[in-house]
Amino acid sequence: TILSRVNWSSDSEDSDSSGADCLYRVVLLGDHGVGKSSLANIFAGIQEKDANEHIGEDTHERTLTVDGEETTLIVMDTWETEKQEEDEKWVQDYCMQVGNAYVIVYSITDRSSFESASELRIQLRRIRQAENIPIILVGNKSDLVRCREVAVEEGRACAVVFDCKFIETSASLHHNVNELFEGIVRQIRLRRDSKET
Ligand code: GDP
Ligand code: MG
Repeated sequence: TILSRVNWSSDSEDSDSSGADCLYRVVLLGDHGVGKSSLANIFAGIQEKDANEHIGEDTHERTLTVDGEETTLIVMDTWETEKQEEDEKWVQDYCMQVGNAYVIVYSITDRSSFESASELRIQLRRIRQAENIPIILVGNKSDLVRCREVAVEEGRACAVVFDCKFIETSASLHHNVNELFEGIVRQIRLRRDSKET
């Protein structure tokens, strides 16, 4: 499936980064266990009880209507693989290249995942230097108040430093998850519109 994805992505390369019919690839990044797949499943409308049937499905396509306009997002939950280490590096390099937008997820209950998020942001900036790609920093698991290790202010401050958007979500409570994906659509449009004028 990785190979078919590669072919498919190079097909659309000539149509700028956006694609003719408003198709955008959104790549989820972040440590294991922070909630990437949970967020992706909510986006795809997969119920938690059915999630097992969807294991292995790591790209989800959905058309959203935001501010009266339709946009199709392909959410890629491909950052983590169960493959060999060598393959993983390849897949992760690929992820860093193909996104039209990035969601960097950490868990507010896990400080090391917050530190990884910063590293991912730096890595992304290095790899996609000249491009002004939308990035959203996401502090997930906001429902776990008692286990919080990263304050909201820290997340917000980090986003300011890294020049990206910030939102806290709870995949468990479905809190702010739609807002997250709508936010991505708006970020993509802002950049598209400023290019046109
Ligand atoms: P991934 O490794 O980043 O794909 O993380 P998963 O989506 O597999 O989630 C890892 C674990 O955290 C699972 O047991 C989820 O049920 C749990 N989880 C994910 N999001 C939340 C959340 O917002 N709140 C709570 N309490 N648990 C969550
Ligand atoms: Mg996962």
